[in-house]
Amino acid sequence: MVVGAGFAGLTAARELVRAGLQVLVLEGRDRVGGRTAPGSVAGVPVDLGAAFVGPTQDAVLALAAELDCPTTPTHNSGANLIRWRGRVRTYSGTIPSLSPVSLADIARIQWQFGRLARSVPVARPWAAPRARALDDQSLADWLHAVRATAGTRDLLAIMSRVTWGCEPADVSLLHALRYVKAAGGLDRMLDVRDGAQQDHFATGTHQIAVRMAAQLGDRVQLSAAVEAVEHGDAGVSVVSTAGTVTARALVVAVPPQHRGHITFSPALPDGSAQLARVWPQGALSKAFAAYESPFWRADGKSGQALSDGGPVFITFDVSPADGPGILLGFVDSRQFDGWDPARRRAQALDCFAELFGDAARHPVDYVDFCWGSEAFSPGGPTAAVPPGSWTTVGRWLREPVGPVFWAGTETADVWTGFLDGAVRSGLRAAREVATALG
Ligand SMILES: Cc1cc2nc3c(=O)[nH]c(=O)nc-3n(C[C@H](O)[C@H](O)[C@H](O)COP(=O)(O)OP(=O)(O)OC[C@H]3O[C@@H](n4cnc5c(N)ncnc54)[C@H](O)[C@@H]3O)c2cc1C
Repeated sequence: MVVGAGFAGLTAARELVRAGLQVLVLEGRDRVGGRTAPGSVAGVPVDLGAAFVGPTQDAVLALAAELDCPTTPTHNSGANLIRWRGRVRTYSGTIPSLSPVSLADIARIQWQFGRLARSVPVARPWAAPRARALDDQSLADWLHAVRATAGTRDLLAIMSRVTWGCEPADVSLLHALRYVKAAGGLDRMLDVRDGAQQDHFATGTHQIAVRMAAQLGDRVQLSAAVEAVEHGDAGVSVVSTAGTVTARALVVAVPPQHRGHITFSPALPDGSAQLARVWPQGALSKAFAAYESPFWRADGKSGQALSDGGPVFITFDVSPADGPGILLGFVDSRQFDGWDPARRRAQALDCFAELFGDAARHPVDYVDFCWGSEAFSPGGPTAAVPPGSWTTVGRWLREPVGPVFWAGTETADVWTGFLDGAVRSGLRAAREVATALG
């Protein structure tokens, strides 16, 4: 049995079916896909959750190809913008050239970060030579200790908000090092060309989940929120809002924080139980504005921008090949999600207008999605793991407890936190179950 019909849970279920096992997926929501969700603005489909993919994300790319969901390049020509200290400037590439001094400092910090990351074994970060020291400090503590300039710290704060949905002070340095290493480095993680934002799915990301679920048919049960699991040598008995079912093994494919909503009996070992309390999800939401055309392109702008203000702090051009121009803005859901819809729209459009000019105040349509208020996955893209968590309970992240196995992107060693990590974790958990069941 599998809990959670996100990319991880659906992948695990498909693999178990392929191994000849009987499978049931229990999903709390009334839809599949988890942190992917379909939306539409001005009649154009948009990804309200995960959207982008890139090179080396081979597991999700292979899955998408198998399900006939092709990728299309993210628009990436023209000048990028940065709103910085009240001024808007243009730049090219991923790192804004704010000044020669700041460029040199960013290069120095990136080099030092990369050197530290080399010492961290991704599969066992607690075994890194200075694991305790790396885990006891936050990314912000480290930036302070290595005397990063204010500009470098602010730029890395934007990276932290979009990557983990938190401030650098909230994330363990050990986690940041491991996470970036699992993605293949900072450039791979942050870039459009040759990076994690290079492409998106023409069908919309959510279609991949829908097609996996269609293959699984009535093996997927929606509106079945799992509340309790009894486990023992004979297997598991799982109580959900849809009833009680038994199985020989269980894959829990929900974010670590949300494992805490399930009561296990007997209770999980201390470290496993504690994990749910110290592996919180970050906070990130999305806003989209549609215009008659991508007017910024006529001004030579790419539609990509960074901002040290808010609530929108990163933008992308996600316009279709023919049709309206669409700007996507990532927003900090800690503030944004609490506002009423009119205020959210006004604030997001203000940010777009500061970057792209007054024309951005007059969209033909607007939509946003508040991940912070979603039942079953409140929070952002992935866990914002605070100092001290990895070295105390990290080894429990995917350690099976009797017949209970763990999946979900947070448990992956490659592209942790991304769709690709979710798929890889589902494949790994299915292998573990198939081995355990002989
Ligand atoms: C705004 C945003 C933007 C993102 N952008 C990208 C991107 O561009 N590229 C990328 O690769 N990744 C991106 N991500 C991250 C990506 O969405 C996740 O890595 C991936 O979807 C995680 O899949 P999962 O299966 O591990 O978890 P989830 O998708 O969270 O699936 C877990 C499932 O379990 C269900 N569940 C939870 N508790 C219970 C319970 N008790 N009983 C039953 N069911 C339960 C949930 O409803 C959910 O469906 C983004 C995420 C967000 C929120």
